[in-house]
Amino acid sequence: MKEKILFEKHVQKSTFNNPMIGNKSDTQVLEIRKDPLTGNQSVFNPVLEDKVAAFFAPSDQALIEKMAGESEPICFLCEDRWKQITPTYPEELIKGGRIHIGQAVLFPNLFPVAQMHAVIRVGDRHYLPLKEFEPIRVLEAFQTSLKLNEALIETNAGIDFLTINGNYLGPAGASIAHPHFQTVGGDLPFTYLESILEKSKLYYQENNSCYWEDLVNKEKETGSRYIGETGPVSWLTSFSPQGTNEVIGILTGKRNFKEMGNEDLEGLAEGFCRVMKGYDSMDISTFNFSVYSGPINTTDDTFRCYIRIISRQNVYENYRTDDYFLQKMLRNELILTSPEVLASTLREIP
Ligand SMILES: [Zn+2]
Repeated sequence: MKEKILFEKHVQKSTFNNPMIGNKSDTQVLEIRKDPLTGNQSVFNPVLEDKVAAFFAPSDQALIEKMAGESEPICFLCEDRWKQITPTYPEELIKGGRIHIGQAVLFPNLFPVAQMHAVIRVGDRHYLPLKEFEPIRVLEAFQTSLKLNEALIETNAGIDFLTINGNYLGPAGASIAHPHFQTVGGDLPFTYLESILEKSKLYYQENNSCYWEDLVNKEKETGSRYIGETGPVSWLTSFSPQGTNEVIGILTGKRNFKEMGNEDLEGLAEGFCRVMKGYDSMDISTFNFSVYSGPINTTDDTFRCYIRIISRQNVYENYRTDDYFLQKMLRNELILTSPEVLASTLREIP
């Protein structure tokens, strides 16, 4: 039988005279990996594995705490300030203008980059080391997003594509320290989502099965990148990651946010916090993530909801960005910690 999912590795050799070994000829072997769905490439040079510190200097904890301390007194998410300062939705969409669950509050972004662009306060603490993210606070934030999704459907708001996202700390693009997520969507899918939806459809047509279910089964069988499950969510590291330390959590039973319930959100929140603990154990201080959904108002059997989490550059003075021409212009990703090593690290997280 033809293999449906192929984990393709292409080997390249790079030769030069190396002054580190007396100008002798040195050949380094590179592994180019291709994502089985998208063909997106990443490159792994084992020689770089010991040189992670040259790309990612250690996080400067004193600097993080100093910046957090300075911004706390003026933070619009701290204490009750959000009640006075943050915008509200029209009553017809959200009764009371904001969605409030536990310590989470969802409200409009003052400067939207999409038709629907909400900000969500994640807990009342202004700064959290990654290991202190709590499943309950993350769960509440996810719950506000699904509540918003319900309101959008009920009011026929014309939003068919919704995503839940996050930036944490400056190097990951966050403008404030206080943990916050963002629910973003519109009548058009975002570029990445559009390509994933298209590729999932093609795979379905070719194989008569869903890529996301097949991927989970295959990775479970292969084992080296499979991390485990939290409720209905299956976690693994990407064979050809499109970001540093990429982890994905797939809801094999859910095609869009409309189908998702509390058990799904609990699984997502628990796994998310474990990834945060794992990153923390690797001295990582920042992250980005997105939760993707198939179209909200139709049922797309070729797609499954999933979360994708990556780490970003650490916080230290004069840090260098982790996205350079390789990622931004050539759209290839650099692997410093191999997906197999990352999965084994994360499997150990209690
Ligand atoms: Zn704050």
